Amino acid sequence: MEFLRPQFAPPGGVWPYVDEASGKTFESRVSLDDVVSQVTRFLKANGREVPAGLRAGIEDWICQRMPPGVCSGEGGLPKYETLPSFFEVSKATDEMFHARRWELCSPAVAEDRARVCIPCRRHSLRLCTTCDGLRKVARDYVRGRRTRFDAQLGVCMVFRVPTVGLIHVEGLTRGEGCPEKCWVAA
Ligand code: SF4
Repeated sequence: MEFLRPQFAPPGGVWPYVDEASGKTFESRVSLDDVVSQVTRFLKANGREVPAGLRAGIEDWICQRMPPGVCSGEGGLPKYETLPSFFEVSKATDEMFHARRWELCSPAVAEDRARVCIPCRRHSLRLCTTCDGLRKVARDYVRGRRTRFDAQLGVCMVFRVPTVGLIHVEGLTRGEGCPEKCWVAA
C-alpha cells in the first residue's frame, strides 16, 4: 500500500515503524524518508542486510495501520482489524474507568507496555483518537500521564480503549483475544 499524499504526515502526526525482528521502534515527524534512513542506519549498525524494498515495506507497514482514505493499493482494508467506531471506544473507555478507581503503574512500566502494544496485532491506528478527543479523555482518566511513545498509540481492539490510557492501568484482567505477548497478566 502507498500513501495517497506522502508529503503530509499521517494521522497522529508521525510516521511510525517497528522492526519486528528486534522490537525496536522508530518514528519521524519529518518524513517517511527520514524513518527509512533511521531504519537503514540501525540495520547496518547491527550487521543486518538492508532489503532492496525497505522503503516500500515500511510504507506498507504504516499504511496497514492507517484509517481508510490515507493510503491506496492492494489490501486497502484492514489487515489487522476492522475500524473501531468512535461511540464504541468512547463507551468502552467510560465504562472501564467508571467501573472502579484504578491504580496506575510507574512511568517506566507504562513505556515498556507501549513498546509491546505498538507492534501488537490487536493494536489499531485506524481511528484518529487525536482528532475526536478520545485520546484526551483517556489521558484525563490516568491523571494526564504521558509517554514518549504516545504519538504511536491508537486503540487496543481487545479492550476498545485508547492505548495512551490503557498502558498506565494496573490490575487489568486479560480480555478474550489478547495475544500471548500482551503485557496484561494472564
Ligand atoms: S492486546 Fe495487549 S498488547 Fe495488544 S494492544 Fe491490547 S493491551 Fe496492548
